[in-house]
Amino acid sequence: MPNGSFVFLILNRRKSLVLLSIIVIIFLFLAIVQKKPESIPASSILKGYIIAIDPGHGGRDSGSSYSQIPEKEVTLLLSKVIAEKICSQGGTAVLTRTDDDDLWDRVSYKEEIEITKQEYLEDKKLGRRIDRRDEGIALGTRYPPTYRLGLRARLLIAEQNNADIFVSIHTNHYRAASAKGAVTLYQPHSMESRKLAISIQKYLKELLPGRAEPGIIEDNFFILRHSKIPTVLMEIGFMSNRYDRLFMLSETGQEAIAQAVVNGIRDYFEDTKPIL
Ligand SMILES: [Zn+2]
Repeated sequence: MPNGSFVFLILNRRKSLVLLSIIVIIFLFLAIVQKKPESIPASSILKGYIIAIDPGHGGRDSGSSYSQIPEKEVTLLLSKVIAEKICSQGGTAVLTRTDDDDLWDRVSYKEEIEITKQEYLEDKKLGRRIDRRDEGIALGTRYPPTYRLGLRARLLIAEQNNADIFVSIHTNHYRAASAKGAVTLYQPHSMESRKLAISIQKYLKELLPGRAEPGIIEDNFFILRHSKIPTVLMEIGFMSNRYDRLFMLSETGQEAIAQAVVNGIRDYFEDTKPIL
């Protein structure tokens, strides 16, 4: 090989090295430019939010039951999966119970009467409609039923932990096996609670479709009536329906339900976030 050609080859190699370096630099630059600094990683969607998850029933209160499977066990199972999912998305989940506990001994009758009296006076001042049972307890003509103490304890746990929202988990039961689908109950006269119910139900009804649409109902149940933060009570599915039951008891079903609840909560917070 003559000398001249050798020099030419070296030059060519240098040129290609320079060219290659330029291409690498351009690619690196594009990669940096395309990475949006405001994009939030999926794992922190719920960052900064505290969500109370309430496994319905527990202890001496079994709820409904199907074929020796009490509601209290299914609600605890589902609640734990939902709580884990919330944590994996950066949120804080507060479970009102983590084992087979009815929480009846957490609040005394005296305390409950006192709290009900305060609520009664406030409701009267604000001109709100007062439930007959609450009025009876406040005026001393009725004694609080024991299960009410456990329900009050759940609300106090959420309050003490500064929860932003409260989600009570239940399962449904009906004598006709054909009744099926998710139902979400919301607080009387609370737009925030209704918005939360709509957000969650949107995802849940895809998994557990029912007959009645949209599947959100205003209800006067204790938890809904007395909670001071946006609260919903979810009847995830019917234990008396074969499809719903198998879905709720399967690992894939539980995972999908948890994801649906988290999606709904995320949409709700996205919607209510103050615009800066
Ligand atoms: Zn229940």
